[in-house]
Amino acid sequence: MGGFLDNLKKMFIMPAGSGSKFITFNIICGRCKEEIIVKASKTSDISRLYEGDEAPGGAEYLLRKEILGNKCNNLVHITIYLGSGYNVISKEISGGKFAD
Ligand SMILES: [Zn+2]
Repeated sequence: MGGFLDNLKKMFIMPAGSGSKFITFNIICGRCKEEIIVKASKTSDISRLYEGDEAPGGAEYLLRKEILGNKCNNLVHITIYLGSGYNVISKEISGGKFAD
């Protein structure tokens, strides 16, 4: 027994990766140093790049997001280029920094 529960557990502990609908990033607010976890949806936050778009080599997707923490009103902007496997090709941030 336990097969059903094991499967259920697997569903919930699945890491944010290729099987997930979300990509997460940890950023740090440039003003108050709050660590913010950004959860970007692969369906609504990410747009597909097309030939002719100005993008780094290998980039297939573009993620642009504005993030507001809880502790202050500093707005952090991120621009991230992703490859076909949602691997990060290049990332830029203003108003804060990436945690890793
Ligand atoms: Zn802040």
